[in-house]
Amino acid sequence: MSTNYDVIIIGLGAMGSTSAYQLAKRGQKVLGLEQFGPAHDKGSSHGGSRIIRQSYFEDPAYVPLLLRAYELWDEIGRESGEEVLTVTGGLMMGPPDSVTVSGSIKSAKKWDLEYELLNPDDIRRRFPLFNPSPNTMALYEEKAGFVRPELSVYTHLLQAEKHGADLRFFESVQSWEAHPSGEGVRVFTNNGTYEAGKIIISAGSWAPQLLEDIGLNLQVERQIQMFFEPIGGIEPFRIGKQPIYILEADDYEQLYGFPSFGIGAEGVKVAFFRKGKPCTPETIDRIVHEHEVEMMREYLAQVLPELNGRFLQGKTCMYTNTPDEHFVISAHPDHPQVTIAAGFSGHGFKFASVVGEILADLATTGKTKHQIDLFSPKRFVYK
Ligand SMILES: Cc1cc2nc3c(=O)[nH]c(=O)nc-3n(C[C@H](O)[C@H](O)[C@H](O)COP(=O)(O)OP(=O)(O)OC[C@H]3O[C@@H](n4cnc5c(N)ncnc54)[C@H](O)[C@@H]3O)c2cc1C
Repeated sequence: MSTNYDVIIIGLGAMGSTSAYQLAKRGQKVLGLEQFGPAHDKGSSHGGSRIIRQSYFEDPAYVPLLLRAYELWDEIGRESGEEVLTVTGGLMMGPPDSVTVSGSIKSAKKWDLEYELLNPDDIRRRFPLFNPSPNTMALYEEKAGFVRPELSVYTHLLQAEKHGADLRFFESVQSWEAHPSGEGVRVFTNNGTYEAGKIIISAGSWAPQLLEDIGLNLQVERQIQMFFEPIGGIEPFRIGKQPIYILEADDYEQLYGFPSFGIGAEGVKVAFFRKGKPCTPETIDRIVHEHEVEMMREYLAQVLPELNGRFLQGKTCMYTNTPDEHFVISAHPDHPQVTIAAGFSGHGFKFASVVGEILADLATTGKTKHQIDLFSPKRFVYK
């Protein structure tokens, strides 16, 4: 078959943009296809900030990937001159037996990461905006911070183009098929048909449609990012004074937030980690309702009262969850020329830099030096 491209990437969000960059940099002939514009706000990669941290409570297996992700965030920062990663320090807070605290300690110990443990008095003294309950403790990690999602996507796309990638926007992939000869893939869009040796499917919340055949059981979920005006002004919320945080309340609901990272008028961002409702990209309710703001206020009044000022704005966003909340990064079980990056389950952005490297490895050589066994789709499909 005549192959026009080495690799076609379907979806240029967090993972598609970084893989386009990695592949183009390796001299691959890349076509990237995106149904919306660059760094849009209709998927999972918008809202100004994404937490990055190393003492990973979800599973210690993520830590080596995080260490590499930090290196690659620094690399793209140096290459582009953009501050995609900002280190602020991070508090993982909750009851001592909470996943947030006990899981973070487990990862830190296993990988010998630097951390401090703080009791409620320590937390109040060092980070006076918080009002921790007597049952709260915290793991403080200096290297935690946040990545800027829109800037990251933009920057990786620009650098990919500089390295020769052909990126097309407002072009929607309708379907793909493995070539009957067994080699290569055909991709059908609203604009035409393309052929390539390999494809990467990094379609975020639209992955269920493109990966129907392999039963990943992906569940898309509506989430809300909220921005409030602090009662006493923005100053105490500035970077340097206020860290990123994940706070598991006494009812084990996880809340997370950031220092002020934009211009003051945008307010300070806070959100619930896993209080979403099932949806699809077609059915998601994009309106943030009063009762949702009120629910956040109840928590803020308890744990971060200074942030319980005027509500400025709410932005919806989607998670694409797997049943165990671990990612899917792998060759397609039936078609080795197809690489899948899906199901980032609400915690993928911090890894986007290293996921791009892994996807480029898989698409070019069929293997990677990174440890990705945890992300195999076989755990769902062939159990
Ligand atoms: C509110 C919220 C907060 C989050 N907080 C954090 C955090 O603090 N830390 C963290 O690490 N992670 C966080 N995440 C998760 C993280 O943002 C996601 O895991 C990550 O953005 C997923 O990237 P993706 O590339 O899979 O999806 P996306 O970035 O959405 O990219 C998929 C792209 O594919 C395109 N596409 C889909 N189908 C087609 C098609 N048929 N044709 C052409 N293009 C197509 C879409 O338009 C989209 O641009 C958060 C997510 C949300 C929603």
